[in-house]
Amino acid sequence: MLIKVPKGTQDILPEDISKWYYIEDRIKEILNKYGYKEIRTPFFEYTDLFVRGIGESTDIVTKEMFTFLDRKGRSLTLRPEGTAPVVRAYLEKSMDRISKVIKLFYLGPMFRCEKPQSGRFRQFNQFGIEIIGTKSSAADAEVIITVLDVYKKLGLKNLEILINSVGCKECRGAYVQKLKKYLEDKKSFLCLECKERYNKNPLRVLDCKKDSCKKIIASAPLIIENLCQECKLHFSEVKSFLHDQKIIFKEDPKLVRGLDYYTKTAFEIISGGLGAQNAIGGGGRYDDLIEELGGKSTPAVGFAAGIERMMIVIEQQQIKWPEEKALDVFVAKAKDENIEAAFGLLQKIRNAGLSADMDYSESSLKSQMRIANKSGARYTVIVGEEEFSKHMVILRNMQTKEQKEVKIDDLIDQL
Ligand code: AMP
Repeated sequence: MLIKVPKGTQDILPEDISKWYYIEDRIKEILNKYGYKEIRTPFFEYTDLFVRGIGESTDIVTKEMFTFLDRKGRSLTLRPEGTAPVVRAYLEKSMDRISKVIKLFYLGPMFRCEKPQSGRFRQFNQFGIEIIGTKSSAADAEVIITVLDVYKKLGLKNLEILINSVGCKECRGAYVQKLKKYLEDKKSFLCLECKERYNKNPLRVLDCKKDSCKKIIASAPLIIENLCQECKLHFSEVKSFLHDQKIIFKEDPKLVRGLDYYTKTAFEIISGGLGAQNAIGGGGRYDDLIEELGGKSTPAVGFAAGIERMMIVIEQQQIKWPEEKALDVFVAKAKDENIEAAFGLLQKIRNAGLSADMDYSESSLKSQMRIANKSGARYTVIVGEEEFSKHMVILRNMQTKEQKEVKIDDLIDQL
């Protein structure tokens, strides 16, 4: 029996790889323009990092982590998200000594053991940015604007930007008590999951998609109406920066994100065409995370976006992918015996900086020409015995179908 790819994962095949290069290059181009530097952290970390960072009672930590023991019995986890690892590296490498404010980005696979469905995988790719070391509301606005610029560069349309403030340690604490009080006598009507959330993470009840819970939370008190003065001011500054940049957004007072570390600004970017898994990205401020992970109190804000979901939107909106770059030169041999000469020429062409290939199977010239055609090569160089003995080869322009004999010494110039 053939072994299949694990559930919720997928191969990125050669015919699709140019799309990935294209997207990754655009992401890097925009993020560099905004002054972010790439950081690459390991694909796995000590489990504790995520438990402490993301929050013990979150869905990710309780249900979705791929956790395993190494040979010495230490618990490791495939990274389910990028922020906690970046903060770990920031602290471990004392990056605050490099500069007061650090701007980092990452790009790569994340792992969550979720129920696979359209737009939801167990291994998926995210790009994300983090600005560590500032509480400025301009940084919150910049994070949103940066990611919108990536989407714009890729041609994505009709995106909805939802924003909210989830407050800080002080005002949220009081609000959660208020929310719990409101939910207390309605608890028995909540879904099973929300009953559990009521105890462990009441804010998450606001985010429940089940109709029965939605009805209950429709008239729940809103965090936005219970913010402290500082959080209120911060939120209005973020909105004003966005207004100034003509960014159209919607305030969603029920928006809370799946990770516990958010404070103040929380936001999500939605594409209507995606169905249930409609978020293509999200982020917010996380002013307590760095202290939570053992550093000194340091404000920060960031964003993470799913690349597969972005690709689904690109396909749905029928945005044209750029043409794949074809081979410059195909080298064909008139007879199998000419392989040595053909191989020498192939390397000569490559060494001159052109892309070139040949067919290593023992096939006729006719079938090699078919392969050359399929490869999209601009030129085919045909190596035949008679010509080669005169230090010549045949050069065929694949577009005009013209062919001529050229001196081997002149070949590179001709190409
Ligand atoms: P999160 O880290 O949960 O805020 O997710 C940020 C973004 O990553 C989401 O908006 C999605 O675009 C993407 N994402 C999260 N989980 C998955 C998943 N299981 N499969 C594919 N994309 C995902």
